[in-house]
Amino acid sequence: MKTALLTHADCLGHVTPEGHPEQVARLEHILHALDRLDLDRVTAPLAADDDLLRIHPESHIRDIRKSRPTEGFRQVDGDTFMSPGSVDAAYRAAGAVVKAVDLVLGGEAPNAFCAIRPPGHHAENETAMGFCLFGNAALGVKHALDHHGLRRVAVVDFDVHHGNGTQDLLWDEPRALVITSQQMPLWPGSGRSDETGAFDNVLNIPLPPGTGGAKMRAAYETLAFPRLRAFKPELIIISAGFDAHQDDPLANLNWATEDFAWITAELCKIADEHCAGRIVSTLEGGYDLKALAEATRAHVEELMKAAR
Ligand SMILES: [Zn+2]
Repeated sequence: MKTALLTHADCLGHVTPEGHPEQVARLEHILHALDRLDLDRVTAPLAADDDLLRIHPESHIRDIRKSRPTEGFRQVDGDTFMSPGSVDAAYRAAGAVVKAVDLVLGGEAPNAFCAIRPPGHHAENETAMGFCLFGNAALGVKHALDHHGLRRVAVVDFDVHHGNGTQDLLWDEPRALVITSQQMPLWPGSGRSDETGAFDNVLNIPLPPGTGGAKMRAAYETLAFPRLRAFKPELIIISAGFDAHQDDPLANLNWATEDFAWITAELCKIADEHCAGRIVSTLEGGYDLKALAEATRAHVEELMKAAR
C-alpha cells in the first residue's frame, strides 16, 4: 500500500491579499514537488458540519460561513483573511483530515499527508486566527476518538509557532496527548512549558530563537519521544509546519530540510512500535516557497519509506 496524498483544487481557491505569506503559491509549490512521487492520490471531501461540531460551536461555523465575501477579501482577525473561495477551502482542509483518518484506520492506507490550506492549528474553539479557520488536526483527533472509538491519539506539532488552537481544543481531552514545539518568544505568545492541559495531556517544548537541528533533535529525544512512547498512541497526527526551516521569513529557528526528514522518520518508528505505523500528517505553516516545497517533499518521502 502507498502513502495517501489528500488534497483538492478548492484549497487553491482560498486567496489572500498580495504579499500575504499564507498564499496560494505555497500549495502550488508543494503539489509540484510531490508531482512525481508514487502516492495514492485521494480527492479531499468537504467536511460535514457534524464533523466540525466535534471541535467548534455552531456559532463559530455559522460565523465563518457568513464571513465569506462575495468579492475581494474580508479580514476576520489581525492577519486572517477570507476570499470568496475560503469557506470551501476550509471545509476541504477539515474534510481531508477526516478522510485521511478514515483511510488509515480502515487499513486502506498505511499513512497519509493532507496537502491543504487554510492551515488549522491556531483556530481555537470560537476563534479564527493566525491564517486558520477550523482546527483541522484537533478535528482528526476527535474523529478518531469519537467516531472510530480509539482510546489514545497523539498530536505532534513541529510548526515554528505554538499550536495554541490544537492545545485549546484538546486541553480537557484526556484521551489525547498534544506535543508541540515552538520558537519562544514568538507569536502567538503561548506555549510555555507550564501549560500542561487539564489532565497533564499537553507537552509544550519552547525553543529559543536560533535553535538548530542538533538542539531540536536533543529536545525531541529527551522530552517528546519518551512521552509519546509512554502514552502508547493508537494513531499519531502530525501538524506539519515547515516554518522552523532556516530559510523561513517568519521565524528564527535554523532547522535544515534533513531535520524535517529526521523528525518524520523518528515519528514513523514510534508509530511502527505502537500503532502499526498509523500516521496522518496535515500541512500547517511554511513560508519560504522553495524551503517549504523541499521540506514537505522530504517529509512525505519518509512517510513513503515507512509505508513500504
Ligand atoms: Zn507556523
